[in-house]
Amino acid sequence: LIEPLSMPSRLLLGPGPSNAHPAVLQAINTPPVGHLDPAFFAVMDEIQSLLRYVWQTENSLTIAMSGTGTSAMEATIANVTEPGDVVLVGVIGYFGNRLVDMAGRYGADVRTITKSWGQVFSLDELRTALETHRPAILALVHAETSTGARQPLEGVGELCREFGCLLLVDTVTSLGGVPIFLDEWGVDLAYSCSQKGLSCPPGASPFTMSSRAWEKLQKRRTKVANFYLDMTLLSKYWGSDRIYHHTAPINMYYALREALRLLAEEGIENSWQRHQQNVEYLWQQLEDLGLTLHVEKEYRLPTLTTVRIPDGIDGKAIARQLLLEYGIEIGGGLGDLAGKVWRIGLMGFNSRKENVDRLVAALRQVLPK
Ligand code: PLP
Repeated sequence: LIEPLSMPSRLLLGPGPSNAHPAVLQAINTPPVGHLDPAFFAVMDEIQSLLRYVWQTENSLTIAMSGTGTSAMEATIANVTEPGDVVLVGVIGYFGNRLVDMAGRYGADVRTITKSWGQVFSLDELRTALETHRPAILALVHAETSTGARQPLEGVGELCREFGCLLLVDTVTSLGGVPIFLDEWGVDLAYSCSQKGLSCPPGASPFTMSSRAWEKLQKRRTKVANFYLDMTLLSKYWGSDRIYHHTAPINMYYALREALRLLAEEGIENSWQRHQQNVEYLWQQLEDLGLTLHVEKEYRLPTLTTVRIPDGIDGKAIARQLLLEYGIEIGGGLGDLAGKVWRIGLMGFNSRKENVDRLVAALRQVLPK
């Protein structure tokens, strides 16, 4: 006989998921209504306007995808990529490579520019790349979770307009915790997730598209190759037509609505400030322990910090000990940084001084003296 579910309590300070806020967990327990119930349409409308606020955009097509961040990521590519389109991807880590893989699957002529893991592109480097490749789409990762680096986006949208291409941006590890101004920066397509800066469980992923991107979608020569992610169909469910496309995961949207509501109640600028303050405290504490941070201060993310594993230390064993003895999850390295760094997330509701203190006290115990 299988026992009823019982899970250990964890402080999730890895690259995500982050802990869900108690009010979000309460919201997810609300009994579902039908997915075509006007009361649920009101929830969808609220999610749309809250997403516009946290992303600082007026894009009318701003919705949440039913799925994790990868579904919203694929939705951006699937809708605006046609076979043969040149898609230029700026690869600064693992998730840039995922965009390369996806664009290739949709028949794009994928070009890449790369940086060593932990670094970011300058505006001049992006200009040179646009001159060389003349892409239909430039795709960048704002917050590269595999390295902890923040790709500056100021001026990139203007550059893309000069070269007549769309700007697609991954904001999975930045939304809620890192300043984002989608409209001011001229971003045409963006996606995120629920389980990091929004303090919600994984499963409902923000997606937005500018009118320029919408025009490209409407002028396609070929059908979007993926029914589930087709924005023309989805816009008829999220817009005033309310035409059935798929059964919305009702309770996930209850959770997302509450997560966004909490963020709006705090104020997005206050949330950015809180993330920055707490991460600076974390950086100081880690350096006081004698540890080295991987990314140059100017480009470090306030939501995710990569810490170099000192020589002679088994990074996996330390992370395991933190998890099993102290109930704290941190992440290991991915790709080029596998075995070289730990990844520490301070995202959403988890970005609090007391969590930094708890982690640092545990690290003091488990690191060799
Ligand atoms: N993009 C980035 C930068 C991420 O960090 C992640 C997940 O960590 C994803 C995309 C994919 O999101 P998910 O794992 O929710 O599907």
